[in-house]
Amino acid sequence: MTDDLIAVTDLEGRSVNERRASSELAMHLLIYRERPDVRAVCHAHPPHGTAFAVAGLPIDQPILSEVILTLGCVPLAEYGTPSTEELTDAMRPLVKHHNALLMANHGAVAYGADLWQVETLEHTAKIAILSRTLGGSRNLSPDAIEKLINVREAAGYLDSGARCQACGYLHETSLACPTGDRPSRSYSSSSNGSGKVSLTRDELVELLSEAARLKDS
Ligand SMILES: [Zn+2]
Repeated sequence: MTDDLIAVTDLEGRSVNERRASSELAMHLLIYRERPDVRAVCHAHPPHGTAFAVAGLPIDQPILSEVILTLGCVPLAEYGTPSTEELTDAMRPLVKHHNALLMANHGAVAYGADLWQVETLEHTAKIAILSRTLGGSRNLSPDAIEKLINVREAAGYLDSGARCQACGYLHETSLACPTGDRPSRSYSSSSNGSGKVSLTRDELVELLSEAARLKDS
């Protein structure tokens, strides 16, 4: 690929050269607007990462130290029709706190200083799948995770905003969200008098983590 093949637009999506931008331009613009620190956005449908997206699973198990250092966990945005606002609306609450997202039944997007984050995402997804075929992966301990998070913040890979990540493993370290705007999604309808209890995903994760801590101690 050469420079002249790249479509260039401004932050409103208006063409700056004669190339036509991808139909997923809105996804790229959303990320650049929400994250002024981001210099590159890569959207793709890599097979292992997309397998997680199709299975309805985030990539959030703390199995590789360098992934915690550079990528953090990768949540799953709900399905939205590609190239429409449905998709960007599903992504918006997650963009600020992550450097990569999966989009349900679609694919992945990774962003940061350069285009290579998406390679890390695919590499992680592939290892996670392979380790499951070998009988399962062993997670890093909460103590090890906290040390890695401290290193990545000192190195500037991810700032403390990423401690608000909506997925599982950070909660096990009992790190509070510093900004209080931790994204959450409701996975069940509210109580309708049938005795059903409604929890957000975060509340459920918190509860399960607490149970795991009690079991370990
Ligand atoms: Zn796509």
